[in-house]
Amino acid sequence: MTEIQVNKVGKVGVLPTDKALGFGKIFTDHMFVMDYTSGKGWHSPRIIPYGGLEAQPAMIVFHYGQAIFEGMKAFKTADNRVNIFRPYEYLNRFNRSAKHLCIPEMDVEQIHDALIQLLTLEKDWVPNQPGTSLYIRPFVVADEPHLGVKVADSYRLFIILSPVAAYYATGFNPVSIKVEDKYVRATKGGLGEAKTPANYAMSLAAQQEAYAEGFGQVLWLDAVERKYIEEVGTMNILFKINGEIITPALNGSILGGITRKTVLELCRSWGLKVTERQISIEEVFEAHAKGQLEEVFGSGTAAVISPVGELSWKGQKIVINNNQTGEFAQKLFDYITGVQSNKIADQF
Ligand code: PMP
Repeated sequence: MTEIQVNKVGKVGVLPTDKALGFGKIFTDHMFVMDYTSGKGWHSPRIIPYGGLEAQPAMIVFHYGQAIFEGMKAFKTADNRVNIFRPYEYLNRFNRSAKHLCIPEMDVEQIHDALIQLLTLEKDWVPNQPGTSLYIRPFVVADEPHLGVKVADSYRLFIILSPVAAYYATGFNPVSIKVEDKYVRATKGGLGEAKTPANYAMSLAAQQEAYAEGFGQVLWLDAVERKYIEEVGTMNILFKINGEIITPALNGSILGGITRKTVLELCRSWGLKVTERQISIEEVFEAHAKGQLEEVFGSGTAAVISPVGELSWKGQKIVINNNQTGEFAQKLFDYITGVQSNKIADQF
């Protein structure tokens, strides 16, 4: 176990009711922090009260965005324990993102230890209503004050925690999606497969325009040909065509989702044909025209599974499964949420 210095708050906060939780607005009493200094490595792990930071205006992260983050969840189980869903998968991806952003890699075991210690202290903040969870946000920022563009010499790692409401308070709601042909999210050779703020900054204008046009999300196409499907909003996307599960292959510009990986493992274990390959938007529209497009859904930590009800592309709209949640999307959702709350053993 890593020796972590703990400085507790004087007065602890109170977990609000499910309805008041929302997403990412409320934070627990404590956070984990650790520093990196060139020549010294990662050091000074500590748990301190959640709150304001000491930050210099010239910190590299404020100007050039050298930062990475993760997003995972912990759940209350029926026997009042706390279950983190696949923490090593997320922490390994954290390190892969670090590499992309020239941020020094971390010791995954040490971060996992720190997370367990933080969660042990904050266990009363894990909500227990169905679908609720404690969202875990590890992140690293370059904190060296320097106005030249360069790889920083010092960094700070944080883990903050936020109790979140059930994503689907009133059941699934299939979303209407705009196939984005003006903006792109990521390019090959860029940062698309890393979880870094720049990718989310890239997505804002498209998302805002899509909302203004009445869509729930955008579907991203490849940056070169504007033809091949990449992701949907901040989720991976999967198609059920003629009984087969097809999802875009991880090509460098797509984030390799942990939920995507879970879904693919489950589908394979259930004996379905699963294919990771390039898939064009034309192919999806053609499959629909032939009556073979059975279901479309996104996968991600926030929603787990998000059914797509409609796809609009250059003025044409297709309606999928009568805008109803597909049986298969529902089955995946039920199974994965069962694993998350420990009702079903995680077999992978
Ligand atoms: N793509 C993007 C761009 C995302 O931000 C996310 C959410 N992390 C995902 C896909 C889904 O990944 P995961 O299943 O690991 O949450």
